[in-house]
Amino acid sequence: MASLVLTSLFAAAIVIGFALKTWLATRQMRHVAAHRDAVPPAFVGTVSLEAHQKAADYTLARGNFGLISMAVGTIVLVGWTLLGGLDVLNGLVRDAVLPRWGAMAYQLALLAAVALVGGVIEAPLDAWSTFRIEQRFGFNRMTWKLYLIDAAKGVLVGAAIGLPLAALVLWLMGAAGTWWWLWAWVAWTGFQLLMLVLYPTVIAPLFNKFSPLPDASLAERVGALMARCGFRAKGLFVMDGSKRSAHSNAYFTGLGAAKRVVFYDTLLARLAPGEVEAVLAHELGHFKLRHVPKRMIAIFAASLAALALLGWLAQQQWFYTGLGVTPNLPGAPNDALALMLLMFALPPFGFLVTPLAAALSRKHEFEADAYACAQASGRDLAQALVKLHEDNAGTLTPDPVYAKFYYSHPPAAERLAALKLEPLR
Ligand SMILES: [Zn+2]
Repeated sequence: MASLVLTSLFAAAIVIGFALKTWLATRQMRHVAAHRDAVPPAFVGTVSLEAHQKAADYTLARGNFGLISMAVGTIVLVGWTLLGGLDVLNGLVRDAVLPRWGAMAYQLALLAAVALVGGVIEAPLDAWSTFRIEQRFGFNRMTWKLYLIDAAKGVLVGAAIGLPLAALVLWLMGAAGTWWWLWAWVAWTGFQLLMLVLYPTVIAPLFNKFSPLPDASLAERVGALMARCGFRAKGLFVMDGSKRSAHSNAYFTGLGAAKRVVFYDTLLARLAPGEVEAVLAHELGHFKLRHVPKRMIAIFAASLAALALLGWLAQQQWFYTGLGVTPNLPGAPNDALALMLLMFALPPFGFLVTPLAAALSRKHEFEADAYACAQASGRDLAQALVKLHEDNAGTLTPDPVYAKFYYSHPPAAERLAALKLEPLR
């Protein structure tokens, strides 16, 4: 009975989520297409009609691609769960690995097998995105060779980090008793904090080169700003983003001594010194206003709730059968299965959290913009924002509902309006 209830809830969440995402995506595409013919008044004189139309076409192409990937993702999710894919794979891996190598090896092999199958299904979509869509709009700079090297590195890094972490969590699930989920949360939280330090310093440099600002006079200028904001002087890096894409960006990342502001070389090449200063001031705003720790606290709280829920669900027979899996007989642990099922089951329900997370992120962006205006020129920040939109073919005319739901950064018009500048030209 409980099993049937879970199946129905899960199926309903998938159907509702699918309908909602499709509705939002088609709204966005209709809105962008309807505004393709004219540059919005606030940007006349700063954005050419050509750039505006490229952004519209790019948004439409990405929107269509997004619908296809979502449909594939939904089929794969139902395939794993209700149609019995995970159940079949579990039987195969268990029979092959458990008798010879034991329970931990079986569970790690199951997690790796699911990740592998997922990766193989996603690979063509990812390649299509890079070599068809990005290529068509002149953004892709990757050769197939670099693309394949990246993929191989990604698998190796993922395995080197993911397998020990999974082994630790599975061991806690088996050995730490009823409160295993609390210990698992401690381990997971520690891991996340460790990644905040290791990602910028060790992992990202495996894929990109990070170097200090090449221009000495610019370095001096931004050094003064950084000192004024209480940021250590060696925390600004330029990344060779042009190696892979013509898109441009700047971001703030890391924790403690690993914190840094990163500029893509593509962005740096486009910005005047004052604009670099304004973008840096925005990123320093994220640092000064403690946006990374705030986001981490929200993530830690959510993962505690999810693990506590799993602590209970993993004990219930219906949790497995309701999601299309027969639990293992005594002698084989169900922990890896339970972890997988939680990872499959949460996103359809968690989809409703998306607008909340997006709203929090937009609030942080407005705050960082306000900080940047106080520390540097708002006019320069506005110019830089327009250039960023151009480099990324970001639409200036998003559907308001779509933007409210998904956008981690406020639409350009709203950001510029919040800067309260006189009209640009
Ligand atoms: Zn920001």
